[in-house]
Amino acid sequence: MFHKILIANRGEIACRIMDSCRRMGVATVAVYSDADRAARHVAMADEAVHLGGPSPADSYLRGDAIVEAARATGAQAIHPGYGFLSENPDFVDAVEDAGLIFIGPSARAIRAMGLKDAAKALMEKAGVPVVPGYHGAEQDPLHLAQMAGQIGYPVLIKAVAGGGGKGMRRVDDPKDFADALASAQSEARNAFGNPDVLIEKYILRPRHIELQIFGDGHRAVHLFERDCSLQRRHQKVIEEAPAPGMTPEMRKVMGASAVRAAEAIGYKGAGTIEFIVDGSNGLRPDGFWFMEMNTRLQVEHPVTEAITGVDLVEWQLRVASGEPLPAKQEELSITGHAFEARLYAEDVPAGFLPATGRLAHLRFPEGARIETGVRQGDSISPWYDPMIAKIVTHGPTRAVALRALEAGLVDTEVAGSVTNLDFLIALTRHDGFASGEVDTGLIERDLDALVTAAEPDPRTRALGVVGLSGLADPAVKGGMTLWQPLRRTVSWDGNEAVIEVLGPGAARVTVDETAHEVRWQGDRWWVDGSLRRNRIVTHDAGVSVFGGRTVHLTPTDLLARDAAAAGDEVTLAPMPGLVKSVHVEAGQAVKAGDRLAVLEAMKMEHSLTAWRDGVIAEVMTQPGDQVEAGSPLIRLEEEA
Ligand code: ADP
Ligand code: ADP
Ligand code: MG
Repeated sequence: MFHKILIANRGEIACRIMDSCRRMGVATVAVYSDADRAARHVAMADEAVHLGGPSPADSYLRGDAIVEAARATGAQAIHPGYGFLSENPDFVDAVEDAGLIFIGPSARAIRAMGLKDAAKALMEKAGVPVVPGYHGAEQDPLHLAQMAGQIGYPVLIKAVAGGGGKGMRRVDDPKDFADALASAQSEARNAFGNPDVLIEKYILRPRHIELQIFGDGHRAVHLFERDCSLQRRHQKVIEEAPAPGMTPEMRKVMGASAVRAAEAIGYKGAGTIEFIVDGSNGLRPDGFWFMEMNTRLQVEHPVTEAITGVDLVEWQLRVASGEPLPAKQEELSITGHAFEARLYAEDVPAGFLPATGRLAHLRFPEGARIETGVRQGDSISPWYDPMIAKIVTHGPTRAVALRALEAGLVDTEVAGSVTNLDFLIALTRHDGFASGEVDTGLIERDLDALVTAAEPDPRTRALGVVGLSGLADPAVKGGMTLWQPLRRTVSWDGNEAVIEVLGPGAARVTVDETAHEVRWQGDRWWVDGSLRRNRIVTHDAGVSVFGGRTVHLTPTDLLARDAAAAGDEVTLAPMPGLVKSVHVEAGQAVKAGDRLAVLEAMKMEHSLTAWRDGVIAEVMTQPGDQVEAGSPLIRLEEEA
């Protein structure tokens, strides 16, 4: 076994890898960018080496500097985590040329699976079913449109170099093909430096079921399946293992295909074979097709660990250091059921835009496995994936594990950034999900209900007002005189409430002419007579009410009031990013929903649309501008 390894990554996955290293007595070297000087992964490591500026190109993607750091610190091997350099075969070559070990597959295996078109061709030859479609070299738009016609609509355009759901467009109607192709190619060129695409038949009622495989370079085993059908815009939101409705027969066929795929390329280490499954009529052994292989540890690997009892990072280290496969297929089995939810700094009502912020308060639940790269006080920066944590639960049955996930999420507390927490809670309460009727369209179909269920309600806000008033704070209570009515105004984020003391532990809160009666005893709260499960927390960014449907109130004096703050007439950049294109000019009339500009952030393109009919008064940006969150971009003329 190695005595020291370097982890070429950041965030939760770097910390996750260090956890296993610590248990195995392997010393760790972290690397970091300027933005991550004080990050959790740096604090956890035995040693840390600075790489450069905050942008990935100046830090976590600098293969040369990372190899040098490993040499300088005497690390014997490099673990790449996921993302960044994990699937970069040139990096693997550089690591090996330096006499170090890459903890992962060979450069050859990564190259074989790196591009989706070549991988599909290879898998076809190995006798693995692949999604019907066109994956040839000819990229002429007319030819591609013709191929799409032959495959039959709906089709899916995919970047051959794609990952993370980027560079993908579903097309239902031939007349939309050309536009969708151009936008997929542009996103692909930007994110991956390769605009090539393939076209696939869009599978209806699709389920995403993937097989965890593990190889030693010759033989491979599988560690069963994960169902990752709960997705939004092709990105996974909640994953589980095993897949609901999986039959032993289908598992056997899928497992054998996955092992065949891995052995066809002499795969070494942890990998995932992703299949798309036709879920329109139950799971059938002839209804699954290879989509792609991820030649690395996967974000959602903990659900597999939970049901198999295997530490996949330990296996990675053991096989990379020359040990044979740690288990035979017949020694592996499934115990119970597991879920993972991805908690992100994300503005759900604004269309799931990535968010940033300093985590003024952070508390994770007991009884769940938490994978995180941040602590209270840390910041979610605009430079990297805005993940805050993964919350993983395990139980004897699917129902028990799902209840545990719901409870774990309700007990999670994050303040200082908006998050998708309430959206995740709403998902755990979704009837179709609870009964295991999952497919990749579930979230989109019920999006409005899921987002609404996550909106704060006025009663929760009334609790926040009492929190903000300090009335329930034991230190303040002594100062209250109860024999005269006490009335005061509390203001936050530009809102106002009147709060009247009704007696010890009781107040009436009036917002927008609606009154709610709040009572409290210790840390138990009632609103309008019903007991609430909420927790009220005061921190240096204001007051938060947790326990489902989170509410945050920032007292007005804390709000840095931007003098130039734009009014309702102006479209602001919802996040830091690059203005890709502007689609309107001054004087032009627009309808609500029209595209005004496209902003690229976190490697994704976000369309900014008009929120009402009107006339453009001023365009304050141009393509190529790098803008901050809140920068004014486009102003509409005031409504007459
Ligand atoms: P998974 O199936 O494990 O979710 P994804 O394909 O979604 O895998 O990607 C895993 C992680 O790697 C995500 O955090 C994503 O942002 C990141 N990622 C994926 N592809 C790329 C890429 N080409 N460049 C940078 N980051 C990537
Ligand atoms: P990425 O590299 O971005 O992860 P994938 O090829 O794995 O790309 O596809 C991502 C997701 O897109 C899948 O999990 C699935 O939800 C959806 N998808 C991919 N191919 C198809 C298809 N042919 N039909 C329907 N949905 C698909
Ligand atoms: Mg994928």
